[in-house]
Amino acid sequence: MLRLPTFTYRQPTSLREALAMKADAGPEGSYVAGGTDLYPNMKRRQQEPRTVISLMGIPELGADGRMDRWPDGRMDGWTDGRMDGSADGLMIGACITLTQLSAHPATRQSAYSAIATAAELVSTPLLRNMGTLGGNLCLDTRCNYYDQSYEWRKAIDFCMKKDGAICWVAPSSPRCWAVSSSDVAPVLVAIGAEYVLASAAGERVVPAGRFYHNDGINYLTKQPDEILTAVRLPAPDGWDAVYHKLRRRGSFDFPVLGVAAWVQWNADEVADARVVLGGVASHPLEIPEAGTALRGSHLEPEAIAVAAEAAFRPAKPMDNTDFDLSWRKQMTRVYVTRALEELRARKTAARR
Ligand SMILES: Cc1cc2nc3c(=O)[nH]c(=O)nc-3n(C[C@H](O)[C@H](O)[C@H](O)COP(=O)(O)OP(=O)(O)OC[C@H]3O[C@@H](n4cnc5c(N)ncnc54)[C@H](O)[C@@H]3O)c2cc1C
Ligand code: SF4
Repeated sequence: MLRLPTFTYRQPTSLREALAMKADAGPEGSYVAGGTDLYPNMKRRQQEPRTVISLMGIPELGADGRMDRWPDGRMDGWTDGRMDGSADGLMIGACITLTQLSAHPATRQSAYSAIATAAELVSTPLLRNMGTLGGNLCLDTRCNYYDQSYEWRKAIDFCMKKDGAICWVAPSSPRCWAVSSSDVAPVLVAIGAEYVLASAAGERVVPAGRFYHNDGINYLTKQPDEILTAVRLPAPDGWDAVYHKLRRRGSFDFPVLGVAAWVQWNADEVADARVVLGGVASHPLEIPEAGTALRGSHLEPEAIAVAAEAAFRPAKPMDNTDFDLSWRKQMTRVYVTRALEELRARKTAARR
């Protein structure tokens, strides 16, 4: 049985207290939300914080699952989340659980339904009851040579992501290629969400796409002391988005490919579009050429085929997750096509 190492557990009740505790703990301190990623990693000694600071008792982080409109309201002006006809966007606290996120009418029955879909596809009901939005967006990158017990990793002399010097996936590579495996992150990049970060220096807001680095070790641009407090979603003004996920077991598995597709409609024409892939790089990978191919189209089969081809080319899965990598690359074309066809079908249904 894998056991947790000894650590000090702290439970702040305000952001200010949490930041002070992290400053006290220094590099040996780590935030935890649901713990569904951090605790298994600690059991495998992939992460070894001496102090673990829970974010779940901080009211501003919305662990009770309430949501708010913004920019009209702040997190103190909670609504029941109905988004009918609203010109406002939606603000979601980072500690909302994935179960709450997928079930809430404000996400499920609205332009934001792709977020609910992605959250619902994460793991199992038990893990979604504990796992949070913030934890999903900060999820550690994954690799077959890294997500192993300490003894397993020691037997191969570790790798550069933890305790070692070499990358076993690409031995001549100076970088780590561990994979971004969050289901929700590609959707938030695709729809142009913004993340609110708090530190002792104050608050800053970053576009979701700039929160991630294409580096398996330094995969977040956030500073270690910064807390992701909330996610801001743009107002639902004529755009639509979907998420499709490839995994081995439909009941639960990390994505080996995630496709988030977003289109801004102008009547029946695509005014703007984004296609973002998860599971093929160390960050959610936007394919600008796919967006270019779709702009000005009606999502007709020819435009979809060009966008799918554009996504196929830069998708370079490495041999460090599930399935044969050349088959996974082929699947990029198939899943991008399916995602865009779903968007077209939704538009057709809305017209009726
Ligand atoms: C068996 C299994 C299957 C899984 N399957 C999937 C899957 O299919 N798809 C998927 O996307 N994930 C999957 N996961 C990963 C995980 O369960 C989810 O991503 C979950 O959302 C993580 O949230 P958490 O709150 O538990 O994160 P935690 O474990 O609490 O934290 C994860 C990381 O984020 C940091 N963090 C958390 N919240 C914040 C915050 N607000 N501000 C700053 N840093 C923060 C923590 O310090 C830690 O480094 C799986 C996990 C397991 C064990
Ligand atoms: S990609 Fe290479 S360095 Fe990164 S976790 Fe895998 S084996 Fe280690």
